[in-house]
Amino acid sequence: MDKNKAIVVFSGGQDSTTCLFWALEKFDSVEAVTFAYGQRHASEIEAAKEIASDLNVRHHILDMSLLNQLAPSALTRDEEIVQKEGELPSTFVPGRNLMFLSFASVLAHQSGAKHIVTGVCETDFSGYPDCRDAFVKSLNVSVNLSMDKDFVFHTPLMWLDKKETWELADQLNRFEYVRNHTITCYNGVKGDGCGECPACKLRLKGMNEYLNEKEGIR
Ligand SMILES: [Zn+2]
Repeated sequence: MDKNKAIVVFSGGQDSTTCLFWALEKFDSVEAVTFAYGQRHASEIEAAKEIASDLNVRHHILDMSLLNQLAPSALTRDEEIVQKEGELPSTFVPGRNLMFLSFASVLAHQSGAKHIVTGVCETDFSGYPDCRDAFVKSLNVSVNLSMDKDFVFHTPLMWLDKKETWELADQLNRFEYVRNHTITCYNGVKGDGCGECPACKLRLKGMNEYLNEKEGIR
């Protein structure tokens, strides 16, 4: 097992791209894995490919269309994105991070990597149960038991809000890159996005908060 090798779960969005830069600083060898599960927009996978190629990172794209077969959500079907009071938003894909982290671990097993990095975050808006710290820690234990390995799951964004995630990108000297090359938008618009969907609003709010704060410090 290579103690200096990491697999990054990578979607081409702001969070996982920031994690990819974080991992490149921390580990000698980094590979990225993107799961294709019938995302609304093929542009997300294209953005992921471009970023991995820009950074010279080996990029695995794995077919996870069974997730869409089992659990259609507004992220995979052309459904309206809604969040009713007290319910999970329609963008929730049950089992997604369970599957992604499990398959990333299988890949890590094959490639000899000790570390698995994911951009899940407990702080922000969505309340997805599989973004919780307790879940990631418990899966880390289960995966290690299942493969008799000692993988380490890393969640550099777990306790950051969007403003702080922008700050981290800036600390890594990658603010502009993350801003211009990633896709977070539910409508598949790169960079600052459509500006209207919940993902864009959250991203822009955090970015403006960060830029205002930085301006204030100067
Ligand atoms: Zn948008």
